[in-house]
Amino acid sequence: MMGISHFLAIPYPILGHMNPLLQFSQVLAKYGCKITLLSSDENYEKLKSASGGGNDKVIMDSHIKLVSLPDGVDPEDDRKDQAKVISTTINTMRAKLPKLIEDVNDAEDSDNKISCIIVTKNMGWALEVGHQLGIKGALFWPASATSLASFNSIQRLIDEGAIDSKNGLPTRKQEIQLSSNLPMMEAAAMPWYCLDNAFFFLHMKQEMQNLNLAERWLCNTTFDLEAGAFSTSQKLLPIGPLMANEHNIISILQEDRTCLEWLDQQPPQSVIYASFGSMVSTKPNQFNELALGLDLLKRPFLWVVREDNGYNIAYPDEFRGRQGKIVGWAPQKKILEHPAIACFISHCGWNSTIEGLYNGVPFLCWPFCSDQLMNKIYICDVWKVGLEFHRDENGIILREEIKKKVEQLLGDEEIKGRASKLMEKVIKNKAQGDQNLIKFINWAKE
Ligand code: UDP
Repeated sequence: MMGISHFLAIPYPILGHMNPLLQFSQVLAKYGCKITLLSSDENYEKLKSASGGGNDKVIMDSHIKLVSLPDGVDPEDDRKDQAKVISTTINTMRAKLPKLIEDVNDAEDSDNKISCIIVTKNMGWALEVGHQLGIKGALFWPASATSLASFNSIQRLIDEGAIDSKNGLPTRKQEIQLSSNLPMMEAAAMPWYCLDNAFFFLHMKQEMQNLNLAERWLCNTTFDLEAGAFSTSQKLLPIGPLMANEHNIISILQEDRTCLEWLDQQPPQSVIYASFGSMVSTKPNQFNELALGLDLLKRPFLWVVREDNGYNIAYPDEFRGRQGKIVGWAPQKKILEHPAIACFISHCGWNSTIEGLYNGVPFLCWPFCSDQLMNKIYICDVWKVGLEFHRDENGIILREEIKKKVEQLLGDEEIKGRASKLMEKVIKNKAQGDQNLIKFINWAKE
């Protein structure tokens, strides 16, 4: 008799990877799979408390088991030093993984041993370990298929002389086209371009060799959204839109749900929702402009200001915020489907992008770095469901620009119409994504 699919899920230990993989694990659990979720010791308690008491009281049940290993980072080390954290984590966890796999498997009967390892970016080393032990591998990529295609093209772009082999910077001014049916993009839109040093570029170049050990690259996207990307690799598998409408799924961060009652009291399509995901930090002068821009609009707004913004949060003296509601972390999926929402001021993180598309909400794009610039190109130039804020000569988005663009978007029936049409398409695409996911689960246990 064929056993169940038992996945060993290994996220890179930052929120932007742990949360999507924890949530994806819950989706797999719903399909009857078993998941062993490997956390670093550092994050174990965070994950455990999320699993024990999400707002929706859905407990990670017997399908998901949490295990942990040390990541080797000293308490006195700076965890913001990603270059150091990556190399220490790789070295420490890698040495301990074979024994952990052995222990997990020893506790299972022969039908239920680990059948596939799923990793996120930076954890490709675990695929190598699995490869040596004869365990299948998959990559869960919480970003677009196009961004994965771009990382996978690094060597080719170097060979063609389009980018520098040491830092990924463009060698000439021309735009980059990753394949003949993908949009032309300025070199600055490549996701490694705004990483602050060459380490990440070289790391990703190496990492792609490990990630190529995975037989499947699972992307939370649909074929129709980024058809061109799928011609770049047969490993790419669109399983989206994933989780965009899953509300009873646990998030690591505690959501402030008071904003839902507040939204209920707002007129239809009146509220400007502003959120910049889990990692982006806004510098004080830019934070002020945003606050004052929201005030200038004289419309209701819902603004997510994370406590870990990275800079001290101080609202400017002139800020009134009378028509606004500010929360530390919102139930974003519920918000985006709320009829009171008019538009989404977004950093264009991929999950936010998919969630906005799924609900037909038009975007105001405020990309910062990594794949966000690429996602902005899709939103504004390919799907044409949003507008981009322009920065002044100092790189700041001024309050007047915020007011002007939001008003322009809200008066643009064509953009809003396209967002509604694309929503219908993405909802239809879900059936294909679900089918691909089931195929993947069956492949894992073959
Ligand atoms: N999110 C949320 N509440 C918030 C802000 C964000 O639940 O207040 C969720 C959002 O729904 C999305 C994720 O956090 O699923 C952010 O992912 P994204 O890829 O957009 O950005 P990242 O955090 O990776 O920069």
